[in-house]
Amino acid sequence: MQLNAKIPAGPLEDKWDQHRFDMKLVNPANKRKYTVLVVGSGLAGASAAASLAELGYNVKCFCFQDSPRRAHSIAAQGGINAAKNYQNDGDSVRRLFYDTIKGGDYRAREANVYRLAQVSVNIIDQCVAQGVPFAREYGGVMANRSFGGAQVSRTFYARGQTGQQLLLGAYSALERQIGLKKVAMYSRCEMLDIVLVDGKARGIITRDLINGKIERHAGDAVVLATGGYGNVFYLSTNAKGCNVTASYRAYKRGAAFANPCFTQIHPTCIPVAGDHQSKLTLMSESLRNDGRIWVPKKAGDTRAAKDIPESERDYYLERKYPSFGNLSPRDISSRAAKEVCDEGRGVGPGGLGVYLDFADSIKRLGKNTIAERYGNLFEMYERITGENPYEVPMRIYPAVHYTMGGLWVDYNLMSNVEGLHVLGEANFSDHGANRLGASALMQGLADGYFILPYTIGNYIASAKLNPVTTDHPAFVETEREVTTRLSQLLQINGKRSVDDFHRELGKVMWDYCGMARNDAGLRTALERIPQIREEFWRDVRVPGNGEYFNQELEKAGRLADFLEFAELMCHDALMRTESCGGHFRTESQTEDGEAKRDDENFTFVAAWEYKGVGTKPTMHKEVLEFENVHLSTRSYK
Ligand SMILES: Cc1cc2nc3c(=O)[nH]c(=O)nc-3n(C[C@H](O)[C@H](O)[C@H](O)COP(=O)(O)OP(=O)(O)OC[C@H]3O[C@@H](n4cnc5c(N)ncnc54)[C@H](O)[C@@H]3O)c2cc1C
Repeated sequence: MQLNAKIPAGPLEDKWDQHRFDMKLVNPANKRKYTVLVVGSGLAGASAAASLAELGYNVKCFCFQDSPRRAHSIAAQGGINAAKNYQNDGDSVRRLFYDTIKGGDYRAREANVYRLAQVSVNIIDQCVAQGVPFAREYGGVMANRSFGGAQVSRTFYARGQTGQQLLLGAYSALERQIGLKKVAMYSRCEMLDIVLVDGKARGIITRDLINGKIERHAGDAVVLATGGYGNVFYLSTNAKGCNVTASYRAYKRGAAFANPCFTQIHPTCIPVAGDHQSKLTLMSESLRNDGRIWVPKKAGDTRAAKDIPESERDYYLERKYPSFGNLSPRDISSRAAKEVCDEGRGVGPGGLGVYLDFADSIKRLGKNTIAERYGNLFEMYERITGENPYEVPMRIYPAVHYTMGGLWVDYNLMSNVEGLHVLGEANFSDHGANRLGASALMQGLADGYFILPYTIGNYIASAKLNPVTTDHPAFVETEREVTTRLSQLLQINGKRSVDDFHRELGKVMWDYCGMARNDAGLRTALERIPQIREEFWRDVRVPGNGEYFNQELEKAGRLADFLEFAELMCHDALMRTESCGGHFRTESQTEDGEAKRDDENFTFVAAWEYKGVGTKPTMHKEVLEFENVHLSTRSYK
């Protein structure tokens, strides 16, 4: 396997401009001769599909939800970063670049991150032009707030529904192209494999989720914008449908999977309430602009929050990280919460919670201002917990939220499989070992609106693309493999439900490959996962058949992939004996319990090559070169 990041030469600031000039173009009149298959209609997929169609390409777009506007991006609450410096508080492209590289604990590519910071400013203009109702100050200028890991206010937001509003913008652009017949939209349609012809991605196999029909689609390039895989942990803030299937099946066809163990645990989620739960709820990081996090100083203190005097409270983030305080990055804030709970100072049932308290802000700013900023989040919290956060502090605890790992891509967002491009959360590109809040929306839209539309043209103009139809033997064979797997799942007829297996896998992953990892635990997980997988293929019960809407069959297929993918995550976590960002190896920590990187041995991207189910994958290294930032110990003190 060859990994060539294809980072353009020249000064960091000029790379993207120069590259755009150097790339080949497809003549406007020729674009309609090419078809691009875009799998995914979240922010990354919808923005890409709409932009490519606007340019003149024929696009087929796929999603498993009933409408593209129900993609998981709709759940994003807090905001989207951009280096506009509207606040005049010292922001710049270079600062956003630096914060992101440092936030990712120096495990991301400089060139990609710099480009992300550069195009961040265009995203806001694009979305405003589409009518996205970003929050504004009284005088009409756009409002900003702060997110973790930054000391400037650069986060644009639409109350607590930023993802939804951004998605409506991208969706309108997509719908326009659907109306113009430049995009053919396939909703309730799941991609189950990719088809390679002469080593290039030339098609996909899909299943219509309503009638079970298996279909072949051919194209000149394939784009995966299929989101993250946090649901491997069963409990996460992700929508229940989020899965790894598209990426994992591409991996099985030869695409490298990069840094699969890099998972983000978000510090502010509603704590787990019991075994019945199948989903966790995020309380946006934006709340940490005005909420203060604390626990009692004394272990085992069961008094109500209001009865604990100021002098007996530990505002531990403000104490430990005075410069960033409650806006310390997610990995650091999550570990700090776990630490105080492990000391017996957690609050609420089971002691797995910390307070997020708005009393000071309400006193300072008034209830109305707080309601304007976070009203819908407060309402959501009250509906779930039955507690009114205007009156009593919220209780929060870390939960799985985002996956920094993903399919390996070069600077052009193309995987090592020619023609297979990967965007948004599905790729590994920009966030290193820890993503900063409000940076995922920025990355997904940067990829879809501003990067892929250029780079895919260069691919199409340069690659030798022979005409391929769906009768090609590669389509026939791939379809046969897909249908065989589906019928295998239906024939098992065992006793345990898909969810039962998923819960079991999730617990193993959380216990051994979650917020803290170590050699012994990861080895235990690597023993347990194949056992669960074997039991799954022997005893899972998938009722019904494959010829109609059968959600158990959908879930079973996705879980079968998680059951293989989980092993890959553990191999990656076991190999990386350093701690960095969200990857905390207990063996590698400083005296005060912070993540201890090992730059000498681990300044690389680990890109894994598939070698068969249950066989250890082969690791390839993309060494990361830092020419513009100095690798230093990440400090938020
Ligand atoms: C609760 C929550 C709040 C968040 N808040 C923020 C925030 O405030 N700011 C921020 O920057 N980030 C936030 N994030 C992260 C951010 O929302 C996501 O990373 C981002 O929206 C992912 O976008 P995407 O387009 O890559 O994927 P998604 O939006 O997940 O879209 C994936 C698409 O792929 C399709 N798909 C997947 N697999 C298949 C398949 N096999 N076949 C066909 N279609 C398929 C789906 O149908 C969907 O259309 C939040 C995340 C969560 C969970």
